[in-house]
Amino acid sequence: MSGDEAPARGEAGADRDPHADSDPNGPRDVVVVGGLSAAVFTARQGLDTLVIDPGESLLRRNAHLENFPGFPLGVNARQLLDLLGEQAGDAGADRLDARATRVSAVGSGDADGPDPGDDIRFVVEVDRGDANDHGDANSRGDAIRTRYVVAATKNEVGYLADVDGIGILDRGKSYVDTDERGRTGVDGLYAAGRLAEKPHQAAVCAGHGAEVGVTILEADDRGFYHDWVAPEGYFTDRGRQVPPGCEEIGDGERREREEESREAIRERFAAPHPDPQETHPSLEE
Ligand SMILES: Cc1cc2nc3c(=O)[nH]c(=O)nc-3n(C[C@H](O)[C@H](O)[C@H](O)COP(=O)(O)OP(=O)(O)OC[C@H]3O[C@@H](n4cnc5c(N)ncnc54)[C@H](O)[C@@H]3O)c2cc1C
Repeated sequence: MSGDEAPARGEAGADRDPHADSDPNGPRDVVVVGGLSAAVFTARQGLDTLVIDPGESLLRRNAHLENFPGFPLGVNARQLLDLLGEQAGDAGADRLDARATRVSAVGSGDADGPDPGDDIRFVVEVDRGDANDHGDANSRGDAIRTRYVVAATKNEVGYLADVDGIGILDRGKSYVDTDERGRTGVDGLYAAGRLAEKPHQAAVCAGHGAEVGVTILEADDRGFYHDWVAPEGYFTDRGRQVPPGCEEIGDGERREREEESREAIRERFAAPHPDPQETHPSLEE
């Protein structure tokens, strides 16, 4: 799932942003096309992550989301998408309001191919539509080089047509053939959510995006155990090192983070979400 609001950087969690100075046009570790939960996991572990998404999640059409874990009386789905977007941004992911038009694998013989020593595997071409008129850095025709790609575009697969070895399944709608962890069989290319044939439920698709993010962390050559925040001493008082990906925090820090989160939730839910209810395009005037 993906929200449409790029969060203002520098808000809550900005102190944990590992990419504040990264080159917006430079090579990425991970490009997520159309999803946010995978990006939360890869960005939190320091992978330079870009989410490319024009903000057209199907969930925007939901009238009241009543089966997403943690919201016993339901939640406005547009609000949830905004919160997911904010969470990805706070984790350090960058976001580009654009459409991916083509993913191609790069080899050492290609003009866009890897420099010696780097392990760029893909180039993702994007179309920013009208945003191009403003001369933004990531403008139409930009080609973003990356080590990993996560495709999470529900049933849109056209931009993957040039990737050799990817399995596209046609079952009335298009899906990408994956194993249970979202691997496509093309090294470094993953699919998540509905696109990977997951059940048509928001929580399942978001959870699968998270699983794919963790799968990338496990595949990446930098060591990862779990993304856990544990109480101080949880590992170390048992004579263990804090494992890679985990964090121990003391009571003061825990209170501070909790207070910050309570304030943020109060503020985000203080007023009804401003975005109108969306519906099926065929029903729109
Ligand atoms: C009317 C309605 C009500 C629903 N109510 C519920 C409910 O109550 N509970 C529930 O669990 N589920 C509900 N759903 C289903 C839920 O919305 C989906 O299962 C879920 O959104 C699928 O997640 P996804 O990430 O796979 O796809 P999406 O959420 O649709 O996300 C796909 C993303 O890909 C982006 N994208 C597409 N093409 C490109 C491209 N070329 N480049 C870049 N980005 C691209 C889109 O902008 C979009 O943000 C409802 C759906 C509808 C239509």
